[in-house]
Amino acid sequence: MKKLGEITSDEIIKIVREKFEEIPEHRAKNIVIPLADALMSAFGMFSLKDTSLLAFDKRREEGDENLSQIYLVKKQPSDSQMRTIIDEVEPKHIRPTFKEIVKEVRRVGILTEYHYMGGYYLLALDGTGHFSSKKINCGGCLEKRNSKTGEVTYHHQILGAAIVHPDKKEVIPLYPEPIMKQDGIEKNDCELNAVKRFCKGLREDYPYMPFIICEDGLYPNAPHIRMLKKYHLSFIIRVKEENHSYLFNYVKKEAEKKETSWYKYEQDGVEYKFHYINKVPLNESNQDVKVNFLEYWQTQKGEVKYFTWVTDIELSEATLYAIMRGGRARWKIENETFNTLKNQGYNYEHNYGHGKNHLAVNFASLMMLAFLVDQVQQLSNSLFQQALKTIGSRKLLWERIRALFYVLSFEAMDDILRALVYGFQVKDVIINDEVALKDVIIGNAPL
Ligand SMILES: [Zn+2]
Repeated sequence: MKKLGEITSDEIIKIVREKFEEIPEHRAKNIVIPLADALMSAFGMFSLKDTSLLAFDKRREEGDENLSQIYLVKKQPSDSQMRTIIDEVEPKHIRPTFKEIVKEVRRVGILTEYHYMGGYYLLALDGTGHFSSKKINCGGCLEKRNSKTGEVTYHHQILGAAIVHPDKKEVIPLYPEPIMKQDGIEKNDCELNAVKRFCKGLREDYPYMPFIICEDGLYPNAPHIRMLKKYHLSFIIRVKEENHSYLFNYVKKEAEKKETSWYKYEQDGVEYKFHYINKVPLNESNQDVKVNFLEYWQTQKGEVKYFTWVTDIELSEATLYAIMRGGRARWKIENETFNTLKNQGYNYEHNYGHGKNHLAVNFASLMMLAFLVDQVQQLSNSLFQQALKTIGSRKLLWERIRALFYVLSFEAMDDILRALVYGFQVKDVIINDEVALKDVIIGNAPL
């Protein structure tokens, strides 16, 4: 039975379907496969972590009941139909589905677990590549030209974003902003422009949510900080001396004048040392952009870890520890997000197809959407949690879900999870050409 604050797998799949149905149809006529069916088929593919479109195609020909019962695909497209349709979908149309899921996560109360420093949300940002080729390319590809040989490499990147918390393993990814060539702009797009578009979209989707943006050393320049302030976004950004010599020298001089503060304590064999000053100029040419500067050493068994950040949150003995932990939580976008997609069965680097326009970009977003759905399951669906615990690893869990999905007929994803948790019996395994495995009895949940 569903518990309070839970979102079941099937509820979340229904939300995805409903949002896909709202995406405007780009085709004027000869519509054989509805747009939502093409998108749900792709979502199903990423949700099942199925690397082979061909296998997907084969199942379609055999009539896949589970695809319609679980992933709500009413009219199943072929592999090539799915790619052709999704290639033409404007990437921004995928964004509202992320927003709706986050809204649901908030509605059932899960998002409060991510409150940080009195109601803020830590939002970690980072760019990552998801495609590179010397031959295959599309209208949205970024181009890198080798200065010696003139050879061009085509590639795609996204700006990933995820709500994180230092104490939580799960992350809540938001719509990843594609870093790609924009219409009418010849010059390659860059990550900073993508951050601008991302922040604009973030405020459109979540106008009142108090975010603290956590970023790596790439972004701390004055226009970027002005842009964050414009959108009422707080920040904790890592800085390095080699890129900010003016700032570091300024702090050194203030330290000599005893204008900076130090705070140190020891706990359980770990020494925490903070050096900080509020309201210092970020660089020489932008004296009006003031930041708070934090330098931090953590020593344990002779090993020293060292970090430096700038933030707009006032540094004091009351906030130092939380800001340090918030700054360090940024790595979750790499470790819990990109590395999970790469190494936990999502086949992030597998080329699912490139297309001429938006296919590569849309597939990257749909994969992130499948990851969001899985993370929400891990956070809020007790059946999913039990299945994961019983089976032991996510990679193995996907394998077991796929195995059942392909062989037996189920009415809902939660039934597959129940079968994995409580066990199941298959009646009448008759091996011949005419009778398929159909009847399943799902073990009853213990009272
Ligand atoms: Zn491309």
